[in-house]
Amino acid sequence: MFKFGQDIGIDLGTATVLVYVKGRGVVLKEPSVVAIDTNTGKVLKVGVEAQNMIGRTPGNIVAIRPLRDGVISDYDTTEKMIRYFLRKVCKNRFFKPRVMVCVPSQATEVEERAVTDAATQAGAGKTYIIEEPIAAAIGAGLDIGKPYGNMIVDIGGGTADVAVISLGEIVVSDSIKVAGDKFDEAVVKYIRKKHNMMIGDRTAEELKVEIGCVYPRPVTLAKEIKGRCLVSGLPKVVTITSEEMLEAFNECAMQIVEAVHNVLEKTPPELVGDISSGGILLTGGGSLIYGLDKLLSRETGLEVFIAEDAVFCVAKGTGMSLDYMDNMKQGTRYSS
Ligand code: ADP
Ligand code: MG
Repeated sequence: MFKFGQDIGIDLGTATVLVYVKGRGVVLKEPSVVAIDTNTGKVLKVGVEAQNMIGRTPGNIVAIRPLRDGVISDYDTTEKMIRYFLRKVCKNRFFKPRVMVCVPSQATEVEERAVTDAATQAGAGKTYIIEEPIAAAIGAGLDIGKPYGNMIVDIGGGTADVAVISLGEIVVSDSIKVAGDKFDEAVVKYIRKKHNMMIGDRTAEELKVEIGCVYPRPVTLAKEIKGRCLVSGLPKVVTITSEEMLEAFNECAMQIVEAVHNVLEKTPPELVGDISSGGILLTGGGSLIYGLDKLLSRETGLEVFIAEDAVFCVAKGTGMSLDYMDNMKQGTRYSS
């Protein structure tokens, strides 16, 4: 009934927006950043171009992440961002696509409505909203339609979301504002305190990705970084080790462990039984920090797996869920 390319999934992440087109896969992956001229309120750039402006702009231009903490803090900007991304992938205006959008779990109904309106205005024929854990599970290839408990932990930039799904619905869930960004902040704080040195967010993220860990690495890694000495105010170079990263990340990592514990405690026993055989599935970019699977496994006694294509799971699942919805009519909310 629907022509090729007419089903589109948008993963509106706190750090990254991904767009999936049925039959083509993930066609767009850009940071959820918008550059705005504060004098006029005009959106200047969106996505990667906006991100490249960070720290390099005159005072009247700011680059913002409108979804940063998992809530749509800036409604107008979010709308413009969706419109921009959707137009970028929808070259053919003749066939109106069906669009499924996955919004951060903390978003309110009003915010969700704003998102669906934006997508519709941008040319979507019909717009639906899907809950993130459901999309993550579908994208990871889980068969969630059965009466069987699956636990998904999605760690993004702004939020970590823990959910137990059975029969296509979320049974228990929790969302905390401890994810990739907080790990970056922890690195900045640690280096300021321990080395009397100020580093930028980008350096912090690089350290996290390259040598960071939340479980001891088999071989200690080290990386030389540059920053500003807080005592002299002059440039300074130090070498940071993965062991220091482990120390810096301990608190954030344990907060994620605690969220998983909380959800397990609230999960009905039958479903806990299922999870103890099936294990926990990790998705999202934040789940790639070294050792999170091992740490969670040690702290819960359960098996923990990182989904294949962890970063793309939600986007894939969001697009695929339109098919799923045709069959199930579950896991999605209102449409416009
Ligand atoms: P969201 O869904 O909230 O937009 P993502 O799933 O795209 O977020 O994840 C973004 C976060 O993942 C960022 O904090 C980024 O630093 C982190 N990240 C991406 N790749 C890695 C990696 N290899 N190791 C550790 N963290 C990573
Ligand atoms: Mg995400």
